[in-house]
Amino acid sequence: MSKLTIAIDGHSSTGKSTLAKELAASLGYTYVDSGAMYRAVALDALRNGWVSKAYGIKEEPIINALQNLTITFNVNSQGQSITMLNSENVEDAIRTMEVSNVVSQVSKLIPVRRRLVALQQKMGENGGVVMDGRDIGTVVFPMAELKIFMTATDQVRAMRRKAELDAKGQDFSLSEVLENLKSRDKADMERADSPLIAAADATILDNSELNRNEQFKLVLGWVAKFQKYD
Ligand code: C5P
Repeated sequence: MSKLTIAIDGHSSTGKSTLAKELAASLGYTYVDSGAMYRAVALDALRNGWVSKAYGIKEEPIINALQNLTITFNVNSQGQSITMLNSENVEDAIRTMEVSNVVSQVSKLIPVRRRLVALQQKMGENGGVVMDGRDIGTVVFPMAELKIFMTATDQVRAMRRKAELDAKGQDFSLSEVLENLKSRDKADMERADSPLIAAADATILDNSELNRNEQFKLVLGWVAKFQKYD
């Protein structure tokens, strides 16, 4: 059976990476979290004082630094994907609200996108990959066999994201979390280069009223349809 390329895009905090990880594990495919790569570039820019929520962005140093940034994924002993920035484990550091608040300013820079898209295409060149992000079905893998575009109501997404942050001891109000999700989606949908949009051939998955198990079964059914025609 040939290995598929599965592209999962959608709004912030719709559970894209949860679904992508589950699918990759069950199919024996590679999982790539493209958002983690944009977050790693944003973390580097934040640490260097090149971007902030209050003062905006200094584009030139971020673009110049790109050539010296190495972003890779390691798999830990529990089989989890760990984001590495210049050989440093940044898996936790990239998931903070500070990074979430600036990442969309960084991800709209065209040289950043070109660099990361090229890396993502290389990671998935042999198929057998599940990649989640915002432009996977439209730009990174326009020929992906299965494209899923995930969405859910604002309230459901904010509650899920808040629970994740609470579990990590990061205390933010529901309204702060909601504000971050909405402003990221707006910036991601309105940017000129590779905006967040469902590919014409994507299947829309609204999981506002689906639990994780129901969603997984539904998507496995979609995968099976492609495998049948091999
Ligand atoms: O997926 P995650 O929420 O971690 O992505 C963080 C941010 O990275 C998004 O809000 C978006 O600005 C950017 N991103 C992107 N293209 C992708 C994946 C993520 O622009 N393929």
